[in-house]
Amino acid sequence: QSRKKHGRKKSVVEFSKVHPDKLPTVILVGRPNVGKSALFNRLIRRREALVYNTPDDHVTRDIREGIAKLGDLRFRVLDSAGLEMAASSGSILDRTAEMTGNVIARSQFAIFLIDVRDGLHPMDLEVGKWLRKHAPGVRTILAMNKSESLDDHRGYLTSAAGEAHKLGYGDPIAISAETGLGMVDLYESLLPLLEEYMLNAIDDKASEGSEFINAEESKLPLQLAIVGRPNVGKSTLLNALLQQDRVLVGPEVGLTRDSVRAQFQYQGRTIFLVDTAGWLQRSHQEKGPSSLSVMQSRKSLMRAHVIALVLDAEEIVNARSSMKHAEVVIARRAVEEGRSLVVIVNKMDLLRGNQKLYEKVIKAVPEEIQTVIPQVTGIPVVFVSALEGRGRTGVMRQVVSAYEKWCLRLSTARLNRWLRKVMSRHSWKDQASQPKIKYFTQVKARPPTFVAFISGKTHLSDTDIRFLTKSLKEDFDMGGIPIRIMQRCVP
Ligand code: GDP
Ligand code: GDP
Repeated sequence: QSRKKHGRKKSVVEFSKVHPDKLPTVILVGRPNVGKSALFNRLIRRREALVYNTPDDHVTRDIREGIAKLGDLRFRVLDSAGLEMAASSGSILDRTAEMTGNVIARSQFAIFLIDVRDGLHPMDLEVGKWLRKHAPGVRTILAMNKSESLDDHRGYLTSAAGEAHKLGYGDPIAISAETGLGMVDLYESLLPLLEEYMLNAIDDKASEGSEFINAEESKLPLQLAIVGRPNVGKSTLLNALLQQDRVLVGPEVGLTRDSVRAQFQYQGRTIFLVDTAGWLQRSHQEKGPSSLSVMQSRKSLMRAHVIALVLDAEEIVNARSSMKHAEVVIARRAVEEGRSLVVIVNKMDLLRGNQKLYEKVIKAVPEEIQTVIPQVTGIPVVFVSALEGRGRTGVMRQVVSAYEKWCLRLSTARLNRWLRKVMSRHSWKDQASQPKIKYFTQVKARPPTFVAFISGKTHLSDTDIRFLTKSLKEDFDMGGIPIRIMQRCVP
């Protein structure tokens, strides 16, 4: 119950962008009158349903097919109501099975419905047996329909669930096709299955290039934000970066005029300077981020791919810590928002005469960043003098490198080869504590986001996630950028 309060889960696959032909197929099965058609209608809502006639010697059996929409999930749904799998005689006819074979063969998943008011009906057992025999590869979710009628009898529902468990299809979910009860549970049961299916399918297509794998991403214009407190040298650095390439940006770039200050070219790449001016000043003046400035800063940060946080070397020398509160806030937020962070220590020219101070700053800043953002190791730090015009190359090299890592895509084949090695490298306390990762895949870049599909009842602990994150960073040179790993448990 509390899980549902903590925000809705979201699919990592954009089902709404998948061509209908490529969607997974879910067949609704169950004895007559359990509510297959009612559920079908709810899932397809007002969408068109195709009706197939499957002629038979005795009757014409209709199979309806439609595109189901459940939250952000999309799938093809087949209503087998017309198949009468559990024939009226109470036994399942082989001939029916044969006919159904075609339909079942096209389905990867099934929702097996029972009527909760009737308890376990002998015909439910028949349907279960039938499914196991004729559709062994079809992964099945058991659903107790008409549960709204038992809503006030919690004990009753639990005992019904216990009984339904005997069908051998795991724990049932309680739904009501009529009222919509339990659709969140249905969503959460289907989510990992359908995601895994899609990600497998995508991966098969990866070499041919699919709508999900965009190798050109890193060639897209890089959106850079230069942020920092007043007087650290942002404007001076900006001018150094722009050099003579300053171009005024019109509205045609797809960003609003006031969100991009300028653009320039660096090694054949277009860099947009995203304007974040003002917001840090504001939060600084107000002594700590007020809710308004935090919201604005968040928006500005989200516009940028790479955040260059500028610090003042002279201030660092005079202060006890390298970073002021406002700077820590931005650095953390940049990482939380999944942006790439590059720290620039400016005004290094002022320390030139003093080797000791120089060395102190060079050592202290990376250490402090590591302390305030322990979750991301290796955030790049560049030491420059914007006033002397030095640092353009140093800054841009780090910015581009951070961006490229942020855009990185790793193929599933490569990741799973890597996973096998890395899992054996890790010393698990015992065999039982080792999570069984069936499949590990990158679902998104910018920032790199991975999903681990875990089989059975195991799950990844925070330590496991940290271990995988660290290993990914080391083995694929992704230091300094935020990496996300999600997990999905599949039966
Ligand atoms: P099918 O033969 O499995 O396709 O079942 P139907 O969808 O035709 O439903 C059979 C009967 O059960 C109909 O009278 C539906 O109105 C009713 N029904 C379906 N779902 C529910 C539900 O969630 N709650 C209740 N109370 N009745 C339902
Ligand atoms: P902003 O408020 O962050 O945009 O800072 P500015 O770029 O306006 O610079 C503030 C002051 O610091 C100006 O007087 C600059 O000349 C000076 N400044 C900027 N960069 C450097 C640098 O690398 N070395 C030195 N010594 N002064 C600098």
